[in-house]
Amino acid sequence: MSRFAIISDIHANLEALDAVLFDIQAMNCNSIACLGDVVGYNASPVECLEKIRSLGCQIVKGNHDEAASSEENPEKMNPVAYNALMWTRSQLNEEQKIWLRKLLLRRNVPPFTIVHATLDQPALWHYIVNQYDADSNFNSQLTPICFHGHTHIPKVFIYEGGKTTEYSAGDFSPEQGKKYFINVGSVGQPRDNDWRASYCIYDTDFNAIYFRRVEYDIATAQQKILEAGLPPILAERLGKGI
Ligand code: ZN
Repeated sequence: MSRFAIISDIHANLEALDAVLFDIQAMNCNSIACLGDVVGYNASPVECLEKIRSLGCQIVKGNHDEAASSEENPEKMNPVAYNALMWTRSQLNEEQKIWLRKLLLRRNVPPFTIVHATLDQPALWHYIVNQYDADSNFNSQLTPICFHGHTHIPKVFIYEGGKTTEYSAGDFSPEQGKKYFINVGSVGQPRDNDWRASYCIYDTDFNAIYFRRVEYDIATAQQKILEAGLPPILAERLGKGI
């Protein structure tokens, strides 16, 4: 029996992560896969990293995991993201940074694949916003199903007969002969105008994929951001889901 929970873009939001892990247990999942961006933006990078690590789950690296564990100065970053990145680096110890640095960019988790951004050029962190962006991913997708994150917007791309179609997130049963590139949304910083934490369940016995939304203690998460001295806009956006 396999019932996978697929989580992504936790972004140092411990309150959201705890609520999602509680829901995962309540939904009787027996395996967890994590699509990266464990840290960045919010106020609990160490707690989230240690919690994810303690799960011993299959995990891939996100662009924020890479930036937070690097010593290099980031190019092209807005002031809010830069400020949050420097703060995150100051919180993590060397051993935690090494753990982040060693994460793989993509992984096979039979019967599916996981990646943070795209399978074709995972290190370039492309944003898949529409069906045209998704096309090149499908050329590199060898399993019928691949889960990804990065945009923080849950969504489904389906490839059939040489054509990609984009669908909004909703529960469904994968069909033979089609390929699915599924964005599970974000646990810690959703951007689809819904503040609730997002993740997916893949039940291979029932051949079903479910999109979950979970309420969490957002007031505490926001208060921690302000107390840490992080840009207040990071607390505001959580409330709006943007
Ligand atoms: Zn992210």
